Amino acid sequence: MAKPSKIYSVLFNKCPQCGEGDFFITKSAYNLRNFDKMNRHCPNCGADFVPEPGFYQGALYVSYALYVAFMVIYFLIFVNLFREYLDYFLISIIPILVILTPLFYRMARRTWLALFIKPASSKERA
Ligand SMILES: [Zn+2]
Repeated sequence: MAKPSKIYSVLFNKCPQCGEGDFFITKSAYNLRNFDKMNRHCPNCGADFVPEPGFYQGALYVSYALYVAFMVIYFLIFVNLFREYLDYFLISIIPILVILTPLFYRMARRTWLALFIKPASSKERA
């Protein structure tokens, strides 16, 4: 078994505990019918992906942080490299954010769960 890490599980749609089972049922964020369908438990180790009702409301803050971080980086690239085309920043930001929405939605949920579940390799408590 590969060494599970939180970064790996967040980026590659894996269970934060074992790093093996899939978090969302589909690998692609752009499968429009199923991109938001999660496994209730890890298919590999059985970790509970929904520890309590409304657990993923907190993922809202992660998703907000992802959008802000993305927009700041995108803006800084424009200001530094394409200053004379700054209009295009405003024109392009909305469609880009729409396209990124499923990606950030999924990443936010995985990040939020990873904050609360320890990778199995680091479990020392009895
Ligand atoms: Zn697992």
